[in-house]
Formats: sequence, structure tokens, C-alpha cells
Amino acid sequence: MLDIQRLLGDLGVPYWTSGKNVSEGWVSISCVMCGDRSNHGAFGPDGWSYSCFRCGKHKVRKVITTLSSWEEAGNLIKEYSSLMSFHETANKERASNVEWPPPNTVKMPSIHAEYLHARGYDPKQLRDLYGIECCYQTGAFKYRILIPVYLDGRIMTYIGRDITDKAGLKYKNLSETKSVLPAKNTVYNIDNIHDTAIICEGVFDAWRFGAHGVAMFGLQYTAQQTRALASRLKRAFIVFDNEPQAVEKARELGAELSFQGVEVEIVSISQKDPGEMSQEEADEVKAELLHDL
Ligand SMILES: [Zn+2]
Repeated sequence: MLDIQRLLGDLGVPYWTSGKNVSEGWVSISCVMCGDRSNHGAFGPDGWSYSCFRCGKHKVRKVITTLSSWEEAGNLIKEYSSLMSFHETANKERASNVEWPPPNTVKMPSIHAEYLHARGYDPKQLRDLYGIECCYQTGAFKYRILIPVYLDGRIMTYIGRDITDKAGLKYKNLSETKSVLPAKNTVYNIDNIHDTAIICEGVFDAWRFGAHGVAMFGLQYTAQQTRALASRLKRAFIVFDNEPQAVEKARELGAELSFQGVEVEIVSISQKDPGEMSQEEADEVKAELLHDL
């Protein structure tokens, strides 16, 4: 038995144990072997097998190496392959608060600032509005921008965006045991919205829409997230990426929210995703969506 849930949780990899594509006892992830954007990859119930609906079977060691490094994968597999740890999975311990700013954070290095500028974001503004931090050459979050996730004014966890575009994981989460809540249990920027929100896939997309933008941390949303949105919102605009899988997912989320009493509009955009819009384009879309409110 390999306790894959704990291993993924501690590695900061989002995973699902229920929902679409997930069979009983299996643990599903966005497949890192094929650049999957949904959750087509899955580890078998004993943790020792892995297969993806899109790209087939892979060795577990290889998948974990892609998520971390060869050396780290070996250590993790050793650490989580005892029978003992499996029985503790059900009651995972969580932190009572998140250490913030985390260790190894530094004043924003120029490569981080350049990365943000290149994507059309103002680093100073992101720091002032959203409290982002940076890790430079050391630590588990090296070469990442750290984004705190707030709920009711408290930091629940944080996620780290790779700025090199070379890491296996574009987004690495703080381990679940160091988090008060995993990111997927909440919605990014939910503290700042009232009864109307523009719902996006990613944090960078949400930033484009300022105080109205929220993000689901990817396409595969959870029941906790729809509940959190439905309990707060009267009106929602869903602006997911402009590709078939995302469009389908946006419709699915729209249906769930309307069922729970939210007035929903699905917005299609010509760019790949809202993050690719210029700030002016995003401001125009936002003004158009919110003008009669
Ligand atoms: Zn795959």
C-alpha cells in the first residue's frame, strides 16, 4: 500500500477522490504526463498503479518524479509506503494557522517582476492588493510567486506559481498538513465579493477583474466551492478558458449554480483565457457585464 493521498497532499498536488472520472477508491489528478487540464489521471486503490484516460499507464515512480524530482520521489515513496500511515488518512491533521510570510521569501527579484510584467500585470499592485510574496533560489517554492488564499480575513493556505515554465507543476500548493484548509475547499478572493462575481479558472484570470474576480484554482471544482459561491452570490458571470473542455465545464458549473438559485451568465471570450487579455480589454468586458447592476 502506498498512501498516495497523503503523499500528494504533502507535495502540494491537487487531487480528487470523488466526482467526474473518479472511481471508488481511486485518487485522481490532472495528469502531468500529458498536460491534461481536467482530472484524467488516477492512482489505483493500493497506490501502486497509475493510468490516464488520455495517455495510458505509467509507473507510479515516474509520475511522482515528474511532480517533484527523482531523488524526492524515492524518499516520498519510502515514507508513504508503510501500512501504518494508510489508516491515518481519514483524519488528516491540519495546521491551526499558516506561517506567513513563509520561510525563504525575499523582496521581489527582478526575474519575478519581469515575469509579471511580461504577462501584463503590475507587480507592486499585486503585492498591495493580494499580498503576493516571492521565493528566489531556495526552498520547496523556489522560483515561484506565492499567492495567499484568504477566507474570512485569515490565510488558509497558499499556492506557488512557477515563473520558469520548466517545473512539472505550474502551481504547487502548500502541503495540506501545513494548511488550515486546502485551496480546493475555498474560492480565491471570495472575501472581496458581495453578491456578484466573475468566476474564473485561475488566479491570474481573476486578477484581471479586480475585486469582482474569483478563481476556482483550475477547471476541476469541488462541491465545497459551489456551495461557497451559491451561499454568497445572486449573480455570477463565468469566464473560463476558450477551449472545448473548459466551455463544457463552465456550463456544468453554471447549471449547478443556477440550480442553487444564482442567476448565471456564461461569457465567451476571444482570447485563450482572461489572463491573456490586456487590462484595457478586461476592464471593457467587466464594464459591459456589470453596467446594469
Ligand atoms: Zn495523461
